[in-house]
This record gives sequence, structure tokens and C-alpha cells, in this order.
Amino acid sequence: MKVTAAVATGRGKPLAVKELDLEEPGPGEVQVRMVATGICHTDALVRDEVYPTPMPVVLGHEGAGVVEKVGPGVTTVEPGDHVLLSFSTCGTCASCANGHPSYCTQFFGLNFSGRRADGTTAFSDHGQPIGSHFFGQSSFSSVSNVVECSVVKVPPTAPLELLGPLGCSVPTGAGAVLNVLDPEAGSSFVVFGTGAVGMSALLAARVANCSPIIAVDIVDSRLELAKELGATHVINSRGENVVERIKEITNGGVDYAVDATGNREVFRSMVDSLGSRGHAALVGLAAPGTEAAIDIGLTILTGAKISMVIEGDMVPHTFIPRLISLYQDGQFPFDRLIKSYPFAEINTAFEDSKSGATLKPVVVF
Ligand code: NAD
Ligand code: ZN
Repeated sequence: MKVTAAVATGRGKPLAVKELDLEEPGPGEVQVRMVATGICHTDALVRDEVYPTPMPVVLGHEGAGVVEKVGPGVTTVEPGDHVLLSFSTCGTCASCANGHPSYCTQFFGLNFSGRRADGTTAFSDHGQPIGSHFFGQSSFSSVSNVVECSVVKVPPTAPLELLGPLGCSVPTGAGAVLNVLDPEAGSSFVVFGTGAVGMSALLAARVANCSPIIAVDIVDSRLELAKELGATHVINSRGENVVERIKEITNGGVDYAVDATGNREVFRSMVDSLGSRGHAALVGLAAPGTEAAIDIGLTILTGAKISMVIEGDMVPHTFIPRLISLYQDGQFPFDRLIKSYPFAEINTAFEDSKSGATLKPVVVF
């Protein structure tokens, strides 16, 4: 069939919106008609060849849509089901078997190769193969063939035009809080970096009834929104000594912390802000080879814990429905982070995300 897709062709080049051919869904594949898809920093990193995904390729890994057809062997969804798309995993390694699929030993190949395991792709342009199956889904296409494990069935009452970010960036922040830190009600919390990921961590800290909830950023407009979303204190770290200020607010040190920047100085500040037996999580990504110093002589005295967290350490099939239900109950207003664009304006959406003008772009088909 013919589909309209945005194709990444190489570093620094805008995505090319064009008509492609899509194969019939193969064994274990679900053909999904996209309603909308979020755009995440990882798409931009791959478009710019920071990660080695072969070009040309259809990116996109926060798709939401409706099942059109299923390939042989698919048992969990059927045509007409509303679905949200998340990352792909092998399902059999020790991490997958123990409920931690974001540490799947095959994660990189399955999500970044732009190919099926046998090396084939589902899209072509005048007979030339175009990469597919990015994060199992390649959601920057009006219709795509998605691996069954990436497909999460959602209630028909949930708004597909908003749900996409629940596939990656929102659970990355929210899962670090609810799945990894698991704070007690009344414990203190700080998030460094109030982009889509950090704001999602903040919304989750509110769900967990943390208090105080502190947000740190270097952009005042983001801190204003953080206050509207439940931060009790905000700190612009350009103007204040962030560690001293956090210790003052929390009477000596914070219980739980998230770094959603991936910046080595911020990581150091996060560790230095921890109180006795505090627990910090790093979710911001840094280039391989990045090192951050911490004072092991003093930090050891606090009994602090530091966790490294991918994709919120979630099981998509249980955590995403939990976030949808919190959203529908009015406790998790992640829609406040979103700005929508028509699919034809996908490159503007990328630019607005890069400039910081938009927290979370979602393109609608
Ligand atoms: P974003 O760029 O929208 O947000 C980052 C925020 O950090 C911005 O508001 C920025 O102003 C702030 N910031 C930058 N430098 C700062 C500093 N020195 N001090 C305080 N604040 C600072 O990005 P995002 O979409 O929210 O993603 C956040 C990070 O999470 C990125 O590194 C992204 O690649 C990563 N990520 C990780 C995973 C994972 O599985 N661990 C998944 C998705 C995204
Ligand atoms: Zn992502």
C-alpha cells in the first residue's frame, strides 16, 4: 500500500515527507494507522547520526493509532483496537523475563537498527529499501508495520491524538519516580531539568504526594509552568547556589532526586543535594564517554543510592495503562506539556523542540 512518511536522510537535513510503499504485515507484525506521534530528542539524535542507524530511515517512536490489519501469529490485538506504541524487546533474556524490559540485552539492535532481525525493511521508495521498525514501530508514517511487543492496547475513551508521549518521554520521567525511587508520601523531591521528561517526573512526584517538590532549571518560563503543575519551590540554577538552596528548603538534604538533563555538573549537584539515605536517579542522556565526579569520601556517609534509569524501568503493558488511568482521573495532566502540529509541519516541530519553544511536540496525521 502507499503511505505518507517522513524520511531521515542524513545529518543536519530536514526530514523528507514523501509517499512510500509499505509491505503487508509479516509474522508477528501489526499494521497500525497512526493518529498522532510524539517527537522525542532521541529522534533528533538519530536523524543527526549521533547513533549509527542506517539512512534513509523512517524514525518516530511515540506512535498512537488504530490497528488496521494483523500479520500471522498475532494474538494480543485485532483490527479496530486503539493502541499506543512503545519500545521493542526480545521478551526472553533475563531482564525481560524478570520484568525489566528496558534493560533487554537486545535493546539497541531491536530499537535502533532500522531493520527486522533478518535485515529486511517494510518500506520502499521505487524499489529502494527505506529503514523501518525503528523502536519496533517507525511511527513517522501514516501507516506502519509494528512488532507485536511494541503495541499496547488502550481504552477507546483515551484521546489518541494526545497519547503518543506515553510511549517514551513521559514514562521515562514518571517511571523513574514511581517505579524506581518509589517515594513515601510527605518525602521531599527535586527534579533537575524541566523538559518533557523532567516535568513528567514532577507530575509523578505529585501523584506520590511528595512535599516539598522542587524544580530546577535555567529557563524561567519552564519554572513558571513547573509551579502551575505542582512544584512548591523553583530554583533558577543560573542565579542561585542550587545545593545550598535545596538543603535550606529540605532542612539538610533532599530524600529523592531526578536528573533529567544528563549534564555532568547537574549530576554532581544532584548527588550533593541528597540528605541522609537519599535516592537519586539519572535519566538524562549523555554522550558515551562522559564522566561525572562525585565526592565518594563524603557521599558514603549519607548512605545515598544512585540509580541509572532507562525508559522509566517500566513494563509498558502495565505502566502505560496506569498513567492513562491517572490522566483520566485528573491526577496526571501530561497534556499540559503538549503542542500539536500537522504532520506536514514535522520539521517545524523538530525546530521548536530544539529551540525550547515547545516542550513536547506531537504531530497529528
Ligand atoms: P529537554 O531538552 O526538553 O529538557 C531538558 C531541560 O533541562 C530543559 O528545560 C533545560 O532548560 C534544562 N537544563 C539544561 N541544562 C541545565 C542545567 N545546567 N541546569 C538545570 N537545567 C538545565 O529534554 P527532555 O525531552 O525533557 O529530555 C531530557 C533528557 O532525557 C534528554 O537527555 C533525553 O535524551 C533523555 N531521555 C532519556 C531517556 C531514558 O530512557 N533515560 C528517554 C528519553 C529521553
Ligand atoms: Zn524517546
